[in-house]
Amino acid sequence: MYVYLNDRLVPRAEATVSVFDHGFLYGDGVYETMRVYDDVVFMLDEHLMRLFRSATLIGLTIPLDAERIRAAIYDTLSANSLKNAYVRLTISRGYGPIGLDPDLCSTPTFVVIAEEMKDYPKAFYVKGISVIIAKTKRNLSDAINPQIKSLNFLNNILAKIEAKREDAYEAIMLNGSGYLTEGTISNVFFYRDDILCTPSIGCGLLDGITRTVILDLAVREGLMVREGEFGKKDIHAAHEVFLTNTTMEVMPVFQVDEVRYNVGDVGKLLRKAYREEVNAYVRNMKGRGPSLWGYE
Ligand code: PMP
Repeated sequence: MYVYLNDRLVPRAEATVSVFDHGFLYGDGVYETMRVYDDVVFMLDEHLMRLFRSATLIGLTIPLDAERIRAAIYDTLSANSLKNAYVRLTISRGYGPIGLDPDLCSTPTFVVIAEEMKDYPKAFYVKGISVIIAKTKRNLSDAINPQIKSLNFLNNILAKIEAKREDAYEAIMLNGSGYLTEGTISNVFFYRDDILCTPSIGCGLLDGITRTVILDLAVREGLMVREGEFGKKDIHAAHEVFLTNTTMEVMPVFQVDEVRYNVGDVGKLLRKAYREEVNAYVRNMKGRGPSLWGYE
């Protein structure tokens, strides 16, 4: 297995970063997770745009432009002969002496890891997963903005630890005002009174790329959609609940805290529509033919 490190592909065993890297010392950096379907990176432009936004929000200048990042991703996929994969792109502040000052690091560390996509267990999609509402609150937007997809994940890890303690798979975090935000690695949707609801970005959450696709698909399917401020009570009173992210796609939830739900028709409809959207995207990219750097 090869990993792209800084400016070249290296065997996995040689893909190491200094203990003085500020990504390691301080969680100072940004990342993206992407999914590759049949040789095509789904929503690559959107992921790159979010990556550059995250970097800008932490004052990090990415040393490669979008074209070169694209090339690095496709080089990594082809070096590992991957067709259906998971790609993790990480950019840290880089190597530097101890100290918080970002100017201590002259060059960011750039890493692309690509691995074969291991699907979630089928049972998760058939039966759903169990979720809790965590006691750990989501970072305040004006403390660490959740729109920054940063390497600093302790807020989410603390919520995940709570979930594990309760034998749940995912934890939904509330904001300081008690409104739902998002899961530790996912966005949250619920269907109630014939309306598909999801917390608005203003509640303090990452604008998931899957979330945006699902909102568009829901409108296209003629569903009523509401982005807004919702509390625990709203999700507990829902008819169905599901989570979204790049790797899960649309994951049904059978339990939030003590409340049970059926795997419902709206989630099933949107899961199917999402798959069709992925297929159409892949067909469209392939229709354009491969560029120098894979399909784009
Ligand atoms: N929220 C958080 C905190 C996440 O880490 C993720 C996963 N990237 C998401 C939401 C979902 O985002 P996406 O649909 O872009 O994968």
